[in-house]
This record gives sequence, C-alpha cells and structure tokens, in this order.
Amino acid sequence: MPPTSPTVRIVEVGPRDGLQNIATHIPTSTKLDLIQRLHHAGLKSIELTSVVSPRKIPQLADCRDLLQHSLIRSLASDPHLRLPVLVPNLRGLEIAHSLDVKEVAVFISATEGFSRANINCTVGQGIERAREVASHAIAAGLAVRGYVSCIFSDPFDGLTSPAAVLRCVGALLDAGCYEVSLGDTLGVGSPATVRSLIRYLTDAGIPVSRLAGHFHDTYGRGVANVWEAYTCGVRVFDSSVAGLGGCPFAPGAKGNVATEDVAYMFHNAGIETGIDLASLVDTGAWISKQLADLDSTQNAIAAAGRVGTNSASQMSSSQKHAAQQSWRLRDVGVLV
Ligand SMILES: [Zn+2]
Repeated sequence: MPPTSPTVRIVEVGPRDGLQNIATHIPTSTKLDLIQRLHHAGLKSIELTSVVSPRKIPQLADCRDLLQHSLIRSLASDPHLRLPVLVPNLRGLEIAHSLDVKEVAVFISATEGFSRANINCTVGQGIERAREVASHAIAAGLAVRGYVSCIFSDPFDGLTSPAAVLRCVGALLDAGCYEVSLGDTLGVGSPATVRSLIRYLTDAGIPVSRLAGHFHDTYGRGVANVWEAYTCGVRVFDSSVAGLGGCPFAPGAKGNVATEDVAYMFHNAGIETGIDLASLVDTGAWISKQLADLDSTQNAIAAAGRVGTNSASQMSSSQKHAAQQSWRLRDVGVLV
C-alpha cells in the first residue's frame, strides 16, 4: 500500500513553465484568461509567472502587469489557492513581495553545466542564492517552494549523480522550502530511474511527503514517470495544460507532461485530483487554438513587414512589436 493518502495535488505550471518557452508573443489578457480557466477547472495550485528580466524571457516581461491585475488579486485572496511565482534572485523576490505575492518558488540545478547556462553560476553559488532568497521570503511571511532541475541528466555534463540531487534537495529543505519539486528538465527519466532516485533520496532521510515530481514529456514517458513516483509515495505533481512548453536544449522536445493526461490517469485509477477533466480538456483545446491563431497572425504580420516598406509603415506599433517578437530567437532563459 502507498504510505500516504490516495489524493494527489497537481501544480499547474503552464502559465509559467509552459508559456516561457513559446516564442510567439502572447497578450497578457490571454494569460489571465488561461489562469481563470484553469482555476475554474478546479486547479488549486497554479504557478502564475516568473519575475525575471524581460531580456532573459521576453514572454514573461508582463509579469508585473499580470500580478497587479484585479483577477490575480482576487484569486490571491482565496486561502485555498496556492499561486507561486518563480523568482531567480532577491530583486525578483522584492518585486513579487511588493505585488502581494504570497508564495514564491526558487530553483537550482543539480548539475554544473546547466547551472552555468541557465543562471550563470555554479551549483554551490546557486544553492547560496536560493538559500538567501528563501530566508528573506520566509522572514517576510511568504511560503517557498523549491525546484531542482536536471535530476537525471544535463545537456552538457551527461548523467546526473543521485548524490548531486540529494545535496540540492537537502539544501532547499534546510533553507525552509515546504516542498521540493524534482525536475526532469530534459525528460530523459524512465520509471526505473524515477524509482531508483526517489528510493535513494528517501533512504537518505528525505521525507517523501516533501517531494514533488516535475516530469517533462520529451520522450513520451511523462505519465509513466508520474505513476511510478506515485507508487513510491509522491503525492504532488507539476504538469502543464496541453503539455505546453519544452526545452530549447532538446530540439523538437515536447513540454511538460500534460495536466489532462495526468488527471485522466489518476481519475481512471480512482485517485482524486479535484480537477474537472471536461473543463480542463476544454481549456487545453482553447489555449492551443489561441497559440495557433497568434502564431499565424504574427507570421502574417512579419510577412507583411518583409513585403515592402509600405505595408510595414502601415503597421501599428503593437503590430510592429509583435513582428519583432516573432523574429526574435528564443533566449536561454530561466528554465526548470
Ligand atoms: Zn519544467
């Protein structure tokens, strides 16, 4: 028998982890609509955005506008909801705190190569930074969630040692994180490696109740990995509606495991998630259509801009902005 209760908590990361890797400029209103639909579908934990430099992640440049919006303010007043915001440093925390965010997420990479590429520091420096952000956040009364990325493999360094993951998980729990999400950023994990890592961590004294699973679906093993982690006692899983997102280091990679797939799997096994699956499926279809429509509109604007100066000069400033966005290469941002 699994050691803890049969219900699971799904942390919807689509608005942050999903959208941040999409090059097409998405209006803030669409993001707000997405968050509202996810809320109506019964999701009680939704990662809203990340307070990062607009240069690093242009897609999330509207984080302040989003967090100040009356919809978000109203959701934030509901004590039953968890609405974490990813913050990479103290500056991000200050901004989030000034916008009345009640929960932040901090992140570190278990591996040196990804840590350098993603946040330009060593693993040790990343741990120190996360510890500092967490301690300030906790002192200010905020809840802190932790992420460890590259739990199985690093795009530069190869396989990740379980000891490296343990070091990071232990440091984040010591820093006061209420739970740590294990991020298979590249989606290379399999049920066997998931089981082996969770066993390693729990054998070393990490309570399984403090762990969450964050499995990308790059090779189609996301749902299997979630199930395996469930059978090991993990009860919290990150997922993204419509499987939004991906990793720029793995060309053609799919994104996070889809919330619809995870919810279906659990419901089918008689395990409660609190999600209204029909409403969630509608939301997934809706955001997929929004993104497809935005993509074709922006490609048309960009094409008009290439046709000649006349058509380009007739574009509004917002159209020009959108056209620039569609040409911008995806930057290596803050990835989990
Ligand atoms: Zn992720």
